[in-house]
Amino acid sequence: MNNILFVLIDSIDKNFYLRYQDKLNTIHEKLLSKLINQDILVIGNQDSMITDSKFMDSRSLYQYIAQQAQERDVIICDAFAGLLSLRDTEDVLNYMRNNMYDVCLTENIPDGLVPMTISHEFIKDFWQYIDEGNMIQSSLKGVIDWEYKGIDVGVYLSSSLLIMERIDFLPINKGAIEYIIDLMDNQDISIKMIDQLLTEKTTLLRQNPQYIAIEISSESDGFHTKSFSHQEMSTDIFRKIITEIDELCPEALISIGVWGDPFMHSSFKELFSLLDTISNKVLIECRSLCLSQELTDLVLSRPNTELIFDVSFIVESLFKQHKNISYSLEQITHFIKSLENKGHVWVRLTRCLETEEGIKDFLIEWKDLPVLITKADSFGLDNKVVDLAPIKRHPCFALRRELTILNDGSILLCRQSDEIVGSLLQDSLVSIWRKNQLFFDKHSKQEYNICKICMSCDDWWVWN
Ligand code: SF4
Repeated sequence: MNNILFVLIDSIDKNFYLRYQDKLNTIHEKLLSKLINQDILVIGNQDSMITDSKFMDSRSLYQYIAQQAQERDVIICDAFAGLLSLRDTEDVLNYMRNNMYDVCLTENIPDGLVPMTISHEFIKDFWQYIDEGNMIQSSLKGVIDWEYKGIDVGVYLSSSLLIMERIDFLPINKGAIEYIIDLMDNQDISIKMIDQLLTEKTTLLRQNPQYIAIEISSESDGFHTKSFSHQEMSTDIFRKIITEIDELCPEALISIGVWGDPFMHSSFKELFSLLDTISNKVLIECRSLCLSQELTDLVLSRPNTELIFDVSFIVESLFKQHKNISYSLEQITHFIKSLENKGHVWVRLTRCLETEEGIKDFLIEWKDLPVLITKADSFGLDNKVVDLAPIKRHPCFALRRELTILNDGSILLCRQSDEIVGSLLQDSLVSIWRKNQLFFDKHSKQEYNICKICMSCDDWWVWN
């Protein structure tokens, strides 16, 4: 590749950097050594710890790149894209040059493998299309609205199915990158090689849990008919879970709810305060069984936290029948709509035979708030709706990335199955997670009979 400038952009969160400093530095060094014969510019946001070339926003950053490019085509990539494929990058570059595009974006390729490019003619003006104050990011895709007229944008499409694995090759969320880098011994890889590697070593995809659902209260509504233990989670177990999450998977999303309404826990405030010690994103998933302004305000005061109210119905009689509470649908609707701070509030409809017909009206009723539509779990067998699943089955995403913890500390195979695979009263989170590898391995060998539900389950492709 000649006449090009590789621009490595550091937009990583400072706290994340501090936590994984050693690993990130190693990955960055690997990228630098891969590009040893290329012209490189390393730049970043105000928090960058790897460069002194720091910028406030994308517009000023690209203005600087324009000055440095000096008649060279520019390749934009993440400063921690240690698995960047030079062969595929060359294909993208040639695609842009041969078709004389201003810019070439990539599609169907996980982030971090193949960068995007800007032609030497266009880089001079590109910064002028960017709004002032636009946050710095290492991908070109979100920098401007590509519908702007006058920019000739090419899209390089990959035929690889790697995108179906929903992974990226950037060191965020503890993706597979650190592990693959070690295996590849710094040779230049291609999308094809990664495809093959992950087909042969599916375990690489299952590192740490990324979604942990915790039921703290058993008080639920009529959607979930399975009766597990009826108790409140103790503060000690909750503390143990939070401490272990912090060690094992500090980037995991924590969802508090499962089937029970967390606001029905008598010590919700005490449990919630334990989340102050961690920075994970948290979802509080209420079944709308308790309308508490105090608890709502408390949840919404925590950064990185979303609050979901399951309302599900638009007809009062059906609502009463399923929710079995003293509030009316009208009261709940009024409560949610009157919240002053609705920025992180979601409304949910649990899809089942009784709610299916009302979806359109529900969306109209809640048009001013984000709406989630979620299928009832297997335990709502009588009224569960069935979805069309993809034709080709693959190992279940839940086994690859989720843990479901019940209020007594026991852990389920997944939230569709009643198989209990361990208990936090005896075991650690990490040992149960590792034990579950066995089930994922079976799925990887297309053995789908690991529990009563698995063979007929239509949730294996659902991504939480
Ligand atoms: S296929 Fe269904 S029952 Fe089996 S592990 Fe996945 S979600 Fe659970």
